[in-house]
Amino acid sequence: MRTVNAPRTPGPEQETAYRQLSYWFDTLPEPVRQRPGLAGDLDVDVAIVGAGYTGLWTAYYLAKTDPAMRVAVLERETAGFGASGRNGGWCSALFATSPSKLVRSYGKTAEQSLRRALEHTVDEVGAVAAEEGIDCHYRKGGTVMLARNAAQLQRARQEVEEARSLGVGDADLRLLGGSEARELVGATQVLGALYTPHCASVHPARLVRGLAETVERRGVRLFERTPVLEIHPGKVVTTRGTVRAGAVVRATEGFSAQLPGAHRDVIPFYSLMIATEPIEEDRLEEIGLRDGETFNDLRHLVIYGQRTQDGRIAFGGRGAPYHYGSRIEPDFDRDRRMHSLIHETLVDLFPALTGTRVTHRWGGPLGIARDWHPSVGFDRRTGLGWAGGYVGDGVAVTNLAGRTLAALVAGVDDENTRLCWVGHRSRQWEPEPLRWVGVNTALQAMGTADRAERRSGRPSRLAQAMSGLLGG
Ligand SMILES: Cc1cc2nc3c(=O)[nH]c(=O)nc-3n(C[C@H](O)[C@H](O)[C@H](O)COP(=O)(O)OP(=O)(O)OC[C@H]3O[C@@H](n4cnc5c(N)ncnc54)[C@H](O)[C@@H]3O)c2cc1C
Repeated sequence: MRTVNAPRTPGPEQETAYRQLSYWFDTLPEPVRQRPGLAGDLDVDVAIVGAGYTGLWTAYYLAKTDPAMRVAVLERETAGFGASGRNGGWCSALFATSPSKLVRSYGKTAEQSLRRALEHTVDEVGAVAAEEGIDCHYRKGGTVMLARNAAQLQRARQEVEEARSLGVGDADLRLLGGSEARELVGATQVLGALYTPHCASVHPARLVRGLAETVERRGVRLFERTPVLEIHPGKVVTTRGTVRAGAVVRATEGFSAQLPGAHRDVIPFYSLMIATEPIEEDRLEEIGLRDGETFNDLRHLVIYGQRTQDGRIAFGGRGAPYHYGSRIEPDFDRDRRMHSLIHETLVDLFPALTGTRVTHRWGGPLGIARDWHPSVGFDRRTGLGWAGGYVGDGVAVTNLAGRTLAALVAGVDDENTRLCWVGHRSRQWEPEPLRWVGVNTALQAMGTADRAERRSGRPSRLAQAMSGLLGG
């Protein structure tokens, strides 16, 4: 075995830097302990690159299925450093590809099976958290998607119609009238809403850090501070040694663009968030969200929020620019203009929050494949597996990906390995500068469309054309 420098213990500066990653990291009850890095070459059965939800759920189900299997997770920073420790905490049955597109590609039965698997997954996350003692504030209160202008209301109606044509009943998705919706979410301009029970709010960092401890307890070896340089069939080259493995799983999501050979597989796309200070009881009562519902409205440039266990609103949105060459830099997590826009949007929804202080501002990259279609797969011939491209809907989907990857690696054929997203491959993103021009033009068009819809109440054709261009 080749030995390299002994792992350094992280100092207080490193701990502070990790705490600043998000409100969620900042409110972890325990110190952000950093595990030792790889200390030389290693032989295992399965090597997993990335300790976010995807990597850790895969490790979890592998260890559960076969406790004797030697599994190593290799993480450049610390568990949850990526989107998994920074997201909006919607553990939902949402899937980035629309149901109608799934039906067109795979048929109605396949779409239905995937939908049921995703609905079940929301419960599975809660069940594992309870079983393993992960106190991630899991609360299944559903999602309220507000319609705040006539165009949004029209989209809500269309969505229900489409859902009904696919066999989705009232129990899974229903249209609420204005007063019923306002009873749940005390926002302004509410004309109605869509409600689905298939979502839980979670504290994302507690979930990912708890998962990391759980997999270690089950015998998985988790190496942090271990940047992976290359992934090959049967081996992973890191800065601290080479790991040989029968199976190698790439679980690096938005960061995949930095790995050789994967530069145009997904783009790192920034979503940004803020958290308010704890809000007084009477103002919280006005805002509602009493049962842990997550909320948004039906604008094109996605927004998302939840009420945290300590009485804040954690709220985020898309719209930050895509950075040329798929660059990822710590500075991109904090975009002053975007953070003020997100704050303005929050106050527009809840004027009661006008004087409320924002205590945390952060963001991070999520991953988008060119066809906007998440995927999971394992190539038996090369022993290479992957999952990702979840866009902004990965908190629950990663669990399904982890279960599926564990089965695929173990050579098990089950209901998950037969789902329609398994083995899907997107085409690559365009080379620069086309990628930069295309993505940022579409982003701007979505913002313009939202403003026009708000003014006129009429659905924007521009947004439709742009989403076709980006997603198709
Ligand atoms: C601000 C924000 C809000 C979001 N809100 C929601 C939400 O409310 N609901 C929802 O469902 N989804 C949401 N998402 C998306 C969701 O968080 C992700 O889909 C999910 O966390 C992806 O998990 P992952 O494990 O695949 O990737 P990540 O959590 O990004 O993990 C990838 C890991 O790989 C490591 N890594 C990368 N490169 C290397 C390398 N070369 N060597 C070693 N390690 C490496 C990284 O450090 C990282 O820890 C949001 C995302 C963001 C950014």
